[in-house]
Amino acid sequence: MADLLFFFFVCGGTNFNSPIKGYEDLHVYCPRCHNFSLVPIHRREFFTFCYVPVIPTSWGDDLQCTICPYNQVTSREQLDQIRRQPAPLGTIQAIPGPPA
Ligand SMILES: [Zn+2]
Repeated sequence: MADLLFFFFVCGGTNFNSPIKGYEDLHVYCPRCHNFSLVPIHRREFFTFCYVPVIPTSWGDDLQCTICPYNQVTSREQLDQIRRQPAPLGTIQAIPGPPA
């Protein structure tokens, strides 16, 4: 039992999310909270041992809402597409992800 507790104490998961270079100024409409609060982030999740990131378990580009917990997988191509859209005020829509 003590061994098990030790395992959970020293191992874990940690997020190393960072803004995507060149897309820091992009704000996309959030379909959940209806704000222009989705920002592109580069997601990196690591399995950690003694707080040291050892194995990357998940990574990719996401649109993450800064207000609510909404999160959507995206890609650089999609971000470029959003950026190229003519953006009259209030009409930017988040592009739905690829069909499952
Ligand atoms: Zn939101």
